[in-house]
Amino acid sequence: MPDAYGQLLDATIQHLEDLKSRGVRHVPVLPETLTALIQPVAREFQNTNLKSQIEKPAAPVASKPSTQSATGDREPAIPAPTAEQTSLLALPGETFPSRLPPLDPQAKAAAFAALRERALACVKCPHLASSRKTVVFGVGSIDAQLMFVGEAPGADEDEQGEPFVGKAGQLLTKIIQATGLQRADVYIGNILKCRPDTPGQSAGNRKPTTDEMATCIPYLHEQIDLIRPKVLVALGATAVEGLLGKTLGITKLRGTWKTYRGIPLMPTYHPAYLLRNQAMSEKRKVWEDMLAVMEKLGMPISEKQRNYFLKA
Ligand code: URA
Repeated sequence: MPDAYGQLLDATIQHLEDLKSRGVRHVPVLPETLTALIQPVAREFQNTNLKSQIEKPAAPVASKPSTQSATGDREPAIPAPTAEQTSLLALPGETFPSRLPPLDPQAKAAAFAALRERALACVKCPHLASSRKTVVFGVGSIDAQLMFVGEAPGADEDEQGEPFVGKAGQLLTKIIQATGLQRADVYIGNILKCRPDTPGQSAGNRKPTTDEMATCIPYLHEQIDLIRPKVLVALGATAVEGLLGKTLGITKLRGTWKTYRGIPLMPTYHPAYLLRNQAMSEKRKVWEDMLAVMEKLGMPISEKQRNYFLKA
């Protein structure tokens, strides 16, 4: 695990990338901060082990404590930055959703409904507005502790107006159920709310373009700000890119805790990848990521759940 300085640096880079992906091009910095930045890093800060100040991951309920990382090494999940660390990253006037006081339930429901109405009427991408059948806003509980973020609706989702209802969606539902939760307990959304068009093709999907992602992402940011989940799961490379900006590939990232505006974020493979690659070892990696998520949420984990895929 990187030392405290490394963690803060990673979190700062991630935060700046997030701002960039949200269209922010200039970050105000106080002259005193600039002066401080050019001073040599205080040894004390570099050497301080902040471990004790960092939020402990929720204790696993079952007997086998650690999760396996992407590399297969046994190591604890990387904890989210402390309140002190996250507040260091906030712009003047910015507050992280995970640190905001709970919203009044009625005001929250009303704000969410208004956001939905705006998204359903959106025509910011005229080519997608004219090719879509529905706007796929999102589904699940607006009070969910766990939120999944995918890439974009496919044909089935476009038809039904609900995310993750096709083959990949059915696999996601099984994964959710394997944790002991139901779809209705979590919230499921996408980076893009419209199906990416494929002109001249009667079938098939394509990855959203950078412009489409930048145009649509504010809706997802608002959804997250209102729901305030305790944990986010980013399904696949596009979801990670949409939330954290361009970073490492999903193979390197999955299984390692990241932070989206103070909220712990677990990158994992997209269920469509598991459908294309049926290797048990890949399914097992996603399951390990979900066990880490369950631990972070303090969910009970049975021996059976712990041992799924153990012999794979
Ligand atoms: N894949 C996604 O990323 N999202 C969906 O809603 C369906 C498939």
